[in-house]
This record gives sequence, structure tokens and C-alpha cells, in this order.
Amino acid sequence: MAAKPIVVVGSSNTDMIIKLDRIPRPGETILGGQFVTAAGGKGANQAVAAARAGGQVAFIARVGRDMLGDQAVAGFVRDGINVDYVHRDKSSPSGVALIFVANDGENSIAVASGANGKLSPADVKKAKTLIAAAGVLVMQLETPLETVQAAAELAARAGVRVILNPAPAQPLPDELLRCISILTPNETEAELLTGIRVDSQATAIKAAEAIRARGVPTVVVTLGAKGALLVDGDQRCLVPGFKVEAVDTTAAGDVFNGALAVALAEGKGMVEAVRFASAAAAISVTCMGAQPSAPTRRKIAAMLKR
Ligand code: ADP
Repeated sequence: MAAKPIVVVGSSNTDMIIKLDRIPRPGETILGGQFVTAAGGKGANQAVAAARAGGQVAFIARVGRDMLGDQAVAGFVRDGINVDYVHRDKSSPSGVALIFVANDGENSIAVASGANGKLSPADVKKAKTLIAAAGVLVMQLETPLETVQAAAELAARAGVRVILNPAPAQPLPDELLRCISILTPNETEAELLTGIRVDSQATAIKAAEAIRARGVPTVVVTLGAKGALLVDGDQRCLVPGFKVEAVDTTAAGDVFNGALAVALAEGKGMVEAVRFASAAAAISVTCMGAQPSAPTRRKIAAMLKR
């Protein structure tokens, strides 16, 4: 049976990146950085990661009627993504993120959301048929929460699995969590959602169980280089990370979620899907930029064989 399509609802930004020795402190100017622009935004990163990992992907988003919006849409088309529901906003500019990346791979990011802030429940309702026919719906939190809620409800009503990456971290209502099949917080996000300090495998399990108690059947806590902890009704399983040399961890979580969706849409089990996602995310941290770092299926397969 062919894998069902993946629908991603979320943000698109243009990342303007400066790589430098260290991240500047407030009031400080540091010379000698290298500048690059790259397509980004958590939603777009997830969509591109899923497409490169072998998924059939449709993206529901809003960009401005400007040059950055044109470039973003052209990029999605190059990656074979369905852009029928990428709306062009008349009154807001495309989203932009200003990113510093230090030599040790750490980053610091400021975002001007622009058109992303206008993605509305009406926008996702227009794509109701698309969402109902999806294998997996994937979302994050860089677009209005009411829009995330509307899409999650449409999917849940149609029996479509919903992956929510709760980033950037913010408190979430139970009515949203009840529509989510798989929540994928990192350690900081798990802590914000539960009030439990996550600094070990034991505390990650505790936080995951606290989230499950609020109605999410499966929780995957991503633990950076250490890997990812899968907790559902049947198992508590640490899937170790792949050993790589980190250059830029921007979008590791986004690539993880995009690839996870592909594996699940293909019918893989949770452990195998998390391993696939970890391989894709590990490759992504070895390259600069968000979407440029999302690996192809061939590269993921090679990493999995290592
Ligand atoms: P986020 O990017 O959302 O903060 P994490 O830092 O937990 O999330 O990273 C997400 C996933 O990316 C991890 O579960 C892991 O699979 C992979 N990853 C992140 N950093 C590394 C690294 N240094 N080496 C290998 N894999 C990594």
C-alpha cells in the first residue's frame, strides 16, 4: 500500500544567519562573522524535511506578497511540495528570523512572524478534505494557537494522526492536547509543559507520563545528542542518538519531526520511526542552516546502516 500524504500546517521564514566565534551579548558588536540566508521557519523546515525523506507533502501556510515569499514558495516547489494552500498575504511581509550561530554550534534566534501570524482557522478549514485524507498531520507553534487547534480538531475527527512539536515552548490547553497523537517536546519544552525539571532519563519519563495523563497517548522527548525517549502505553524506550560532529543544531527538532511523519505514514512502528527520525536529525546538525541541512532519503538510509 502506498504511503498516505503528509500535511504540515505552520510557519515559513527566511533565516538570515551570521556564523561567528560566539553569540554577542546585549550592547556588544562582534566583527568577523560570515553571513548566509537560508529558507527556514519550523513548519517549512518540517515540510521540506518530510519531502526530502521521501514523503508526499502538502504545506498549509501564509507568506507575504514579497520577494522572500516568492523565494520560499519556489523552494517548496523544487522540493516537490504541494503549495496549493500556501496563501499569499496582501498586508503582511513574509516571516524573517535573525540567527546567530557560534563556533560550538549553539544558536540564538529572533523572529518577526509577519504573515505567519495571520494563518487562520479559516485557512486550514479550506484544506479540510486534504487534512482528512492525510496519513499524518504535523504542526508546531509558530502560527496562532487557534489555528493549530482548528487543524488538530479536523484531523482528530477524521481519525488522522497528529504530531505536534510544542516549539517554541508555551503552555498548552488540554482541549488541544486531547487531539494530539504524538507530542515531541525537547527537554526545555517538556519542563515548561509539566513543571518537572528534565535533566535525566528518569525525569524525562516522569514529564512524558505527566503529558500522557493530559490526554496525549504517545510522547517522544528529544534529548539532543543523547537521542530521544519514547513513552507510550506499551513502552519506555531510549533510542540513542547517532554520533556526529555538530556544526549547527538549528532545525534538528524540525527535521526529526518531518522524518518521523514520513516513517509513520509508511506504516513503520514507533521505535523504528524514532530511529529513522534520529538518523535524519543527526545528519542535519552536521550542516549549516535549516532547510539546507534536511537530508535526502539516500543519506538517511546510509546513516541508518552505520
Ligand atoms: P530541538 O532541536 O527541538 O531543541 P533536540 O536538541 O532534542 O531538539 O534535537 C532533536 C533531535 O535531533 C534529537 O533527538 C537527536 O535525534 C538529534 N540531535 C540533536 N543534536 C544532535 C547531536 N549533537 N548529535 C546527534 N543528534 C542530534
